Amino acid sequence: MVSERFPRSGHHDVIIVGAGVVGSAVAMALGERKVGAVVLDPDLSGRLSSSEKNAGGVRATWWQPVNIRLCLASVRYYEAIRDEVGFEQKGYLWLYGSDTWESALVHLDLQRRLGHRIDVLTPAQVGQRVTEIDRLDGIAGATFAPRDGLINPNLLKLHYQSRARSLGARFVDRVFVFAIHPAHDEVILECWQADEPLSDSALSRMMAQDERGSPQGGRLLELRCSALAICAGAWSPNLLKLAALDSPTEAVRRQVCLVHNRATNLAEHGMIVDTSGLYFHNEGPYILAGYSPPEEPPGYSFRYDGEDFFNKEIWPRMFARMTCCERLRHIGGWAGLYAVTPDRSAIIGLAAARIFEAHSFSGRGVMQSYAAGQELASLIATGQPGPSDARSLSRERFNGRGTLVPEPLHI
Ligand SMILES: Cc1cc2nc3c(=O)[nH]c(=O)nc-3n(C[C@H](O)[C@H](O)[C@H](O)COP(=O)(O)OP(=O)(O)OC[C@H]3O[C@@H](n4cnc5c(N)ncnc54)[C@H](O)[C@@H]3O)c2cc1C
Repeated sequence: MVSERFPRSGHHDVIIVGAGVVGSAVAMALGERKVGAVVLDPDLSGRLSSSEKNAGGVRATWWQPVNIRLCLASVRYYEAIRDEVGFEQKGYLWLYGSDTWESALVHLDLQRRLGHRIDVLTPAQVGQRVTEIDRLDGIAGATFAPRDGLINPNLLKLHYQSRARSLGARFVDRVFVFAIHPAHDEVILECWQADEPLSDSALSRMMAQDERGSPQGGRLLELRCSALAICAGAWSPNLLKLAALDSPTEAVRRQVCLVHNRATNLAEHGMIVDTSGLYFHNEGPYILAGYSPPEEPPGYSFRYDGEDFFNKEIWPRMFARMTCCERLRHIGGWAGLYAVTPDRSAIIGLAAARIFEAHSFSGRGVMQSYAAGQELASLIATGQPGPSDARSLSRERFNGRGTLVPEPLHI
């Protein structure tokens, strides 16, 4: 596709940096409020973006009210467009050990009060629901939430982008933002538009840098806007630094595998989360399985450890829960980035005068994207919170001017 040659200079109402699922949802929500947005990304196809690398899980099964609210609002939207985005509500089955089961029970009341349907299962009922789970040791209890499920994240992103375009947004490809200058009544961005698509390694190198850098070839753009929205996922700290803003967020590698054997068919089930932290679901002819080692160091690494990861982290946990997984085969896999804050909840809000932000969704950005987009767009367009009221997720909580939002139910 030939990239749009965007005018070298000009003023725009809102510029959004990052065209992942979150930036695209913000553009759509701004369009719904009749605010025009220009969305910039060095790779609109999103090859390295987390929106491309995730497991597609959607759940309102959380312990923090704001996370439940954002997910419930998103689930309602995904239900309305379910065929277009492949939203299948086959539920989340969450297995708890004795160390966490009491806390899970304590949060049921909150979850139900906020409108999330969630059932309690005994270990024996787990075995009846998923007959492949025949090793019940270590399970103290489980929850099953039937409205949770799986979505196709690429279709969801395309839905946001196409609706945003129909409402006046422009998505501009091959544009890398390398300098941000907050000015008196606007924000000025220096950008570089590449002539050709960038290779994965060039993209990865450029996006990980947190200083001005030196673009080669292509065209330089100087764009001005009344409001800037930073929605650059795990790279958001680098953009914030360009605007002299700090960030508590760290990029952390997360790996998932595709595995297979003839004896295991989980097609009728949604996501299953084991007591060990392993999560898995059916994926076409295979099973997608992920695990997040707590000792993973922060950094922009996309290295996939292949058989080593499968043998060390995935197979032992699958076999410990299901004897049918003894002969499980490793098919392949990939690594992507989580953007993680110290309390494991996202940052949504005003970062500085005319600079807004929505990022650091750890493993939650797809499932919260619709409502997060509504919240940020409402703030930009009216200065007021949106219908899910995400004020508690503003960066102020890390500056001692708010309460942390610790979310233990992350995987
Ligand atoms: C293995 C894995 C499993 C996951 N599973 C789930 C799940 O089951 N459910 C769920 O909801 N979430 C899951 N997630 C998390 C989810 O994928 C992310 O939270 C979400 O995709 C974040 O979207 P985003 O738009 O904020 O960021 P991204 O999708 O990463 O998009 C950021 C964009 O910013 C662009 N950018 C970067 N730097 C610049 C710059 N200088 N100038 C311009 N643009 C720039 C990038 O090119 C990129 O396109 C998972 C993530 C991983 C890695």
